[in-house]
Amino acid sequence: MFDNSSFDNHEGVHFFNDEKSGLRAIIAIHSTALGPSSGGTRMWDYPDSVSMITDALRLSQGMSYKNAMASIPHGGGKAVIWGNSKTDKTEALFRAFGRAVDSLQGQYWTAEDVGIDTADIEIAAQETKFAAGLTTGAAASGDPSPVTARGVFKGIQQTALRAFGSDDLNGKTVAVQGVGSVGGYTSQYLAEAGANLVITDIDQEALADIAKRTGAKIVAPDEIYDVEADIFSPNALGAIINEDTLKRLKVKVIAGGANNQLVVPAMGEFVRRAGILYAPDYVINGGGIINVAAEISGSYSRAWVDQKLDTLIETLGTVLDDALESGRPTNEVADEIARARIAAAKA
Ligand code: NAD
Repeated sequence: MFDNSSFDNHEGVHFFNDEKSGLRAIIAIHSTALGPSSGGTRMWDYPDSVSMITDALRLSQGMSYKNAMASIPHGGGKAVIWGNSKTDKTEALFRAFGRAVDSLQGQYWTAEDVGIDTADIEIAAQETKFAAGLTTGAAASGDPSPVTARGVFKGIQQTALRAFGSDDLNGKTVAVQGVGSVGGYTSQYLAEAGANLVITDIDQEALADIAKRTGAKIVAPDEIYDVEADIFSPNALGAIINEDTLKRLKVKVIAGGANNQLVVPAMGEFVRRAGILYAPDYVINGGGIINVAAEISGSYSRAWVDQKLDTLIETLGTVLDDALESGRPTNEVADEIARARIAAAKA
């Protein structure tokens, strides 16, 4: 693990095996400098354990950066469970996972991520108090996606302001990849603002629903990169900005909620050279973790969430302005600010 190229001085990487339930999980804690680590749990059928470890290392570091940029009192951590989320879920597995989280005594707070829903976290929460994103309880914050989408929409406006000289999205064409939770809510905000939408998804039901609500035009998944649009908003998969897709994009802005949009960080410079302004993913999509942090604080307050979300969008503006002034890629500027915040807390 120490030789893994994604190892970044993580404070701890904890391996759990529960023979009875079949749980095999890793909880990686990148940093607790800013507070107890927090980050969702991902359930994925990894091809091998090295891929699993790499994912845990990379995702937990990403959470440190995301939480630092969101100005919440949390470090970064992430849990990964090895298994197929469609076929391998049992109550025993999530109870064992809850005990694993509990054994870290609050150094790590869990919530939902890919493959994990509120029902799973609620089972884990029967074994630990260090679980959030719940639907019941005094401070329950529920599904974070609407807050993530609110931040993504405001972030798109801020990026448009710098790219087009106005944050008015009326008449702008936005190509939206993925209309699930985050992409669906974001599309509705965009339509309300008068944007023309072109949407894609592999889920025909979700597509039909959002098209009906927003009047969006539907294209096939692979066609989304070729759309004549002003803005590309990725809200599905990671690693979708690569050499091939960048050549095809005709937009001036990339801004959406998906995690890890650049195939490698170095793509940021190629995006910049292509004349596209990219809103760094872990900055623009921090609304969800802000909502979770409000629950972890013990007394959920909508006013606190709104204030943090506004500060986050101001931070996004600072990142974009710094990058434009210095001629550097936006993701590099964001990384630098996040690292500085973590280093200051450590010091
Ligand atoms: P979701 O599962 O509700 O939605 C994802 C959508 O993408 C689904 O409708 C799915 O069918 C679609 N999709 C999958 N493959 C596709 C493809 N090849 N082409 C087009 N569409 C495809 O998930 P979500 O919660 O909306 O999350 C979306 C992204 O945002 C993820 O990258 C996630 O990590 C990130 N994110 C989510 C939150 C949150 O609050 N939910 C917070 C931060 C980041």
